[in-house]
Amino acid sequence: MKPPEDFQFDFKQKRVLVTGAGKGIGREIAAMLHRFNAQVVALSRTEKDLQSLQEKIGCETIVAELGDPEAARQAAEEAGKIDLLVNNAAIAILEPFLKTTVEAWDKTMAVNLRAVMIVSQVVAKQMIDRGIAGSIVNVSSMASFQALHNHAAYCASKAGLDQLTAVMAVELGEHRIRVNSVNPTVVLTEMGKRAWSDPAKGGPMLARIPLRRFAECEDVASVVCFLLSEGASMLNGLALRIDGGFLVA
Ligand code: NDP
Repeated sequence: MKPPEDFQFDFKQKRVLVTGAGKGIGREIAAMLHRFNAQVVALSRTEKDLQSLQEKIGCETIVAELGDPEAARQAAEEAGKIDLLVNNAAIAILEPFLKTTVEAWDKTMAVNLRAVMIVSQVVAKQMIDRGIAGSIVNVSSMASFQALHNHAAYCASKAGLDQLTAVMAVELGEHRIRVNSVNPTVVLTEMGKRAWSDPAKGGPMLARIPLRRFAECEDVASVVCFLLSEGASMLNGLALRIDGGFLVA
């Protein structure tokens, strides 16, 4: 059972920046926000993904490499006035712990964690200057709660992201900016397929999810929309699992 197609939010007059909007979950978040009347600013790395998204939903686009701190800052500044922010872009470089390289570790932290700090700083500052009640959603992962083989850098980055979310929630809350993360289980996007499409790996994971399915991009996008919406106006500092019950089983 997926979210019903007729469920609704209304983001009229809201400009929403979505990072990593070129593919997978971020692309679905951008498309769903557009369906709910938001003005979407889509940021990603591969220009042709953004072009095809623009043709589909008429969004503004920004091409940037978020692993580069100056490029991340410039991209966030280029986005201009933003009411709602979704930090979704991330990478997963799979290596056993004993073979985890400094290069992969640093790249992972740069994209999955440092870029969230930089982009959120720029966006939150202009929200505060404009006196608006903003909302920020960070796309984390169940990998922040669950140790996964070959995911040392990724798991550490997502655990760090949840704690960054918590501190942002505390410090930005007094400016009426809510900050939450969502923590999905496996979604078979390009990233998800690389780690989980092998039945020897994906099968045991699936068997531990009480709902007996992986998440779809829409399952994540609808929760992100809820957290961005005024319906979630008292939710701040959450790390919200979207895992079909995996962690309580
Ligand atoms: P994909 O790899 O399918 O898509 C990621 C998107 O982010 C792509 O558009 C990619 O662009 C962009 N991106 C990655 N690195 C950068 C960068 N340095 N600068 C700018 N853009 C970048 O991933 P998913 O859709 O699966 O993942 C989205 C989010 O969901 C991530 O935060 C991920 O950690 C999280 N997540 C995913 C799960 C899964 O099983 N798939 C489970 C739990 C959480 P490009 O392709 O051009 O590099």
